[in-house]
Amino acid sequence: MPKEDDSASDYSDLESIHSDVEEDLEDYKKGGYHPVNIGDRFDNGRYIVLRKLGWGHFSTVWLALDTLNDSHVALKIVKAANRYTDSALEEIKLLECVKKTNAESKGWQHVAQLLNHFWHQGPNGKHACMTFEVLGESLLTLMKRYNYKGIPQNIVKRIAKQVLEGLDYLHRECGIVHTDLKPENVLVWIPNIEAYLKTDTADILKEIKEREHQLPSPNSMTPTTPNIERRRSSTASWHEGMDVESMSKSKKKRLKKKMKKKTLDDVEEVEDKLGNLKISTNWSTPKEAKVIPSSILDITSIGSEEDLDTIVIKIADLGNACWMDGEYTHVIQTRQYRSPEVIVGAKWTNEADMWSVACMIFELLTGEFLFDPRAGSKYNKDDDHLAQILELMRTVPKLLISGGEYSRDFFDRSGKLKHIKKLRYRRLRDVLHDTFLVPPEDADAASHFLLPMLEMDMTKRASASHMLKSTWLKDA
Ligand code: ADP
Ligand code: MG
Repeated sequence: MPKEDDSASDYSDLESIHSDVEEDLEDYKKGGYHPVNIGDRFDNGRYIVLRKLGWGHFSTVWLALDTLNDSHVALKIVKAANRYTDSALEEIKLLECVKKTNAESKGWQHVAQLLNHFWHQGPNGKHACMTFEVLGESLLTLMKRYNYKGIPQNIVKRIAKQVLEGLDYLHRECGIVHTDLKPENVLVWIPNIEAYLKTDTADILKEIKEREHQLPSPNSMTPTTPNIERRRSSTASWHEGMDVESMSKSKKKRLKKKMKKKTLDDVEEVEDKLGNLKISTNWSTPKEAKVIPSSILDITSIGSEEDLDTIVIKIADLGNACWMDGEYTHVIQTRQYRSPEVIVGAKWTNEADMWSVACMIFELLTGEFLFDPRAGSKYNKDDDHLAQILELMRTVPKLLISGGEYSRDFFDRSGKLKHIKKLRYRRLRDVLHDTFLVPPEDADAASHFLLPMLEMDMTKRASASHMLKSTWLKDA
């Protein structure tokens, strides 16, 4: 085996798209997810959790009311172990670059933008938290809606154009490689979401408020001081019995000042990697974590079916993204969207994203993976993956035969695969037409559009800006 089987690593997300419905309860442990209850408050009471929106292998994501702006946000709470907080800090830096670089760019609006970030101390450790605009279902859920038979072409074209615009912005203007493009990480934007959520969450919010008034609140709302972590010995909360939201700003300020004085006795200075991340604590979350079902916001149940014809998407999850100027060879991308240069362990950069985009668009059109490799008795998943790619693209560039750390494990000197001898060559347009019954003209056009992004030699692979000029996207 050329490399460790990555399914065994912490980054098991890389091996396949996740098929589990919800996060694993066992991951609610020291260094893992933060146990959240509906009604929990975060960032000194500013955010109130109303529902679960989703989860990933690194975090859980919640619908929360931002009481400061009286609007809703998606609150991403990252696992607490160092490797997760380290990558969250990187994610925040990248997201800040995305936000600041050029808000006028077309692609800016197709990348989910960071609103705020802070630390949250809980029973499993210190969690990096980020807030984002609330978005709807992912493209994976959208595909399910069409029973994995493919999304109508006109909708796919709109999605493809916007993904490419977002990616062109990330690559050319921000110098960022996403590294994990896949349907799960592209989310649908929902028009008038705020008005809908205000009505839809009114009851739960009322219930939470009533509960907060009746009981001493279970959540602490410690005041904010940068670079300071608080140790609180009791669960008594400084805002017990007070409706902090309804206070005037100046009153809140005075109260904060007062409480700061009170708690500074317990203050411990810690070295903070990002000085401006504020810390809030939540010591009294229940001892037993539970898995709360996600309730995804579905565009058609909020608006109408026609809204899909004017669909707007945003690229999300920069949790694995990196700067384009680095020299990388480590394994990236979820298996089915992984580019050949990554498989052979060669240097990769932003062109790797273009490969993933092509795999994703094929999947949106057909409902099935373009490449879905399996290990056999005489070959591993990587061998099979390269074989499937070769069956479609035929010739292997030199760069892959000898340019990767593991190239020799896969290829002989003439560029033939060592472990898989029989290849069934096929053309992409034939796969689309014969297997997925795409009409011949559409199959030709889609294949013509996708092939430049599936160029095995990454130096010849089409860029996002090049692809945006494609005729296939003309009426998107
Ligand atoms: P991870 O890094 O753990 O994979 P993601 O950023 O991909 O985390 O978020 C996990 C899931 O949470 C997403 O697949 C999606 O279902 C949901 N989610 C993330 N961001 C938002 C958002 N802004 N609005 C609505 N749901 C979101
Ligand atoms: Mg994700």
